[in-house]
This record gives sequence, C-alpha cells and structure tokens, in this order.
Amino acid sequence: MAEKKKEYSIETRTVHGENRIDLVHTYGSISTPIFQTATFQHIGVKHSTGYDYTRVSNPTRDELESTVSSLEGAFTTLACSSGMAAIDVLLSLFRPGDHIIATDDLYGGSVRLFDTAEQTRGLKFTYLDTSITKDVEKGILPETKALYIETPSNPTMKVTDLRAMKRICEEHGLLLIVDNTFLSPYFQRPIGLGADLVIHSGTKYLEGHNDTLSGFLCAAPGREDLAETLRMTYKTVGCNLSPFDSFMVLRGIKTLAVRMDRVQDNALKIAQFLKTQPKVKDVLYVGLPEHPGYEVNRSQASGFGGMISFHTDTKETAYHLLEAVKLIKFAESLGGVETLITHPRLQTHADLPEEAARKLGITDNFLRLSVGIENADDLIADLRQALE
Ligand SMILES: *Cc1c(COP(=O)(O)O)cnc(C)c1O
Repeated sequence: MAEKKKEYSIETRTVHGENRIDLVHTYGSISTPIFQTATFQHIGVKHSTGYDYTRVSNPTRDELESTVSSLEGAFTTLACSSGMAAIDVLLSLFRPGDHIIATDDLYGGSVRLFDTAEQTRGLKFTYLDTSITKDVEKGILPETKALYIETPSNPTMKVTDLRAMKRICEEHGLLLIVDNTFLSPYFQRPIGLGADLVIHSGTKYLEGHNDTLSGFLCAAPGREDLAETLRMTYKTVGCNLSPFDSFMVLRGIKTLAVRMDRVQDNALKIAQFLKTQPKVKDVLYVGLPEHPGYEVNRSQASGFGGMISFHTDTKETAYHLLEAVKLIKFAESLGGVETLITHPRLQTHADLPEEAARKLGITDNFLRLSVGIENADDLIADLRQALE
C-alpha cells in the first residue's frame, strides 16, 4: 500500500510548494528555474515532454499553479496575467440571461467588468449587502446562477458569512464564488467552507511586493467540470502569467505567512491609534472586537488581515492627510510590503454612481490603508504628524 504523503502545514507549503518538496530541478536548483521559452521540442512523433507551447502550459507557471492550489485546497488553479483577467475567464462559465448576485461593495474593477458583461454578454448582476444573509435569499431569481462574494469587502470591510452563503447555494443550485484577495489563503480558505471557485488578485498579498501583476482562479475538488471549461477558455485566449512573472509570484509567496502575521500586528496597532484621533471617525478594521463582522470573520478565518478604512471629520482633513504622509505612500493597490493609503472615491471607486457610493459610505472623507510590514511606530508617527 502506498504511504500517504505527509501534509505539511501552510507555512511550509508557502516556501516549498507541493511539488517542490519532492521535485529535483535541473542541477539541483533550489529556486524554481524560469523556463523562458514559447515552445518545447518534441522527443519524437506522438511523444511530448509534457510541455508543447507556453500559452497552454509552462513548467514555471505549473509550479506556481500547484503551489496556489495547495494553499487554497483547490483541485486546480489557473495563473492569469492579472486579477481582472482571472475574473474575465470566470465569466466564460455564464450564458446570456444568467443572473449573478454580487456583494454590493466589490473591487471597483470587478464592477466595471460586470457592467460591460451586462452590455455585451447579456449577463445580469444584482448587488446586495451579502453580510445580511436573508437579503441574499430574497434576491434570488429563477435565472440566478451564482453568488459572487468578497469578504471582508472592499473598501467598507463588511463580512459575509460564507457557510450561510453555501447553504443558500446548495438549496438553490448556485455556484459559490469568493474573491479571497483581502485575507489570502494564509488566513481564509473558502473552498474548505464550500466555495466552488476562488479568485485572487495575486498582485496583492500573494506576490506581496507591489511589483508584479497576477491573478488566480482556483477550482474546488469535485468541480473538475468547471475547471475543464475554464482552462479551455484560458488556454485559447492566452491571458496567462508569463514565466518570469510566475517566478516573481512564487518568490513572493515564500514569505506570505510572515508578511501576513506582521501586517496584521501592525494593522491592529494602527487601528487602535486611529481610534484615539479626534479627526478620525469610525475606524473599520475587522480585527477590532466592536466591528460588526468580527465574530463571523473569526468563525471562518484565522486572521483579520491588514486593511483598514476610516472616515475623517472633513474632506479637507482627508485630502491633507493624503499629501502630508511621508513614509506612507498615496497610491492605489494593496497587499504589498509598503504601506499605502488610498482615497476610494477618487481612485478605485471613481466610476461608482454617486447614490451607490453614498449608500456604501464611500464619501470624500473616506480613506483606506493597506498596512505594510514596516515598523508600526514609524507608521503611527507618520499618521500622527499628517493628522496634525
Ligand atoms: C486588485 C483587485 C482585483 C483586480 O486584480 P488586478 O490584479 O489588479 O487585475 C480584484 N479583486 C480585488 C479584491 C482586488 O483588490
């Protein structure tokens, strides 16, 4: 009888992946070689090395895909050229007339893509506050095919109960799709809670250094049917991650666990500091026990992550803060080693209609911090002087 392979813990798998534990690279290379080639020589007629053409597959990218599959508990993963590319591949599962319920507070780019899909592909989307389970149930139509969830949501940090979403999906025959960018598989693994598909902007925590775009689409075990359709679209279109960028993300993932722990420690300290500031109103951080989603998040994730949003007393304070920070950079994106501050209404959520933005609390006084791995006291000192 074959001996069962030892299941290494997630920290070990970020460093070694699943295959690398056993795999011996050419010349014993410890890091994954970058197979910078478009095509592969055939050994003979009807005899391939297993690789034929990089649009279809590439050994560097394969190793990244199996590493992300291992972290997420997925059957298979597609490594895409960006998070948006991964979401676009996902949409190939749907047909004109299909309806999808999505979290009302999604990444702005996802909303833009879904709006286009409504106009050009005949899909229908309804945006609901998915942190209120009964509202999701009420929103289901005969043509509803999937729930598309972000938890915590972006940028207002609402937490959706993934187990409750799974129950709804089972009852109504829907797919459960989760964008897991904010917590990363280090803190949250939606497939274990019933998700069929998981999306990542790998540009954020997975790669972690604000220097490489990437995206992932992971299919759960038992959803080989979906995986096959998705991989067909992916290899036909070619929105895959290059060998070099695959190497960059593999390298970034090696430190995922230590980065996430550090980011979370820093975020908690900064959230507590912000709460003491007279010019700061309601600090939204899922790691604060008074956050409305604290308990649900704790029941389904092992951490709270490093994203904080807050309101300032006036628009002037918010604008001043963005220009007065020195160490913290005023920039879009999140999940890297550098701390970034964003103004969602002017940046990521600029296209959101005024009414929808106001309902979500995405106002001119609203700011979002992606906490990095710097020294927490240095970050707090920077915020303190900028709030003066
Ligand atoms: C950034 C982001 C995306 C899009 O990913 P890109 O890599 O920028 O294409 C999707 N979802 C979330 C939650 C994001 O933060």
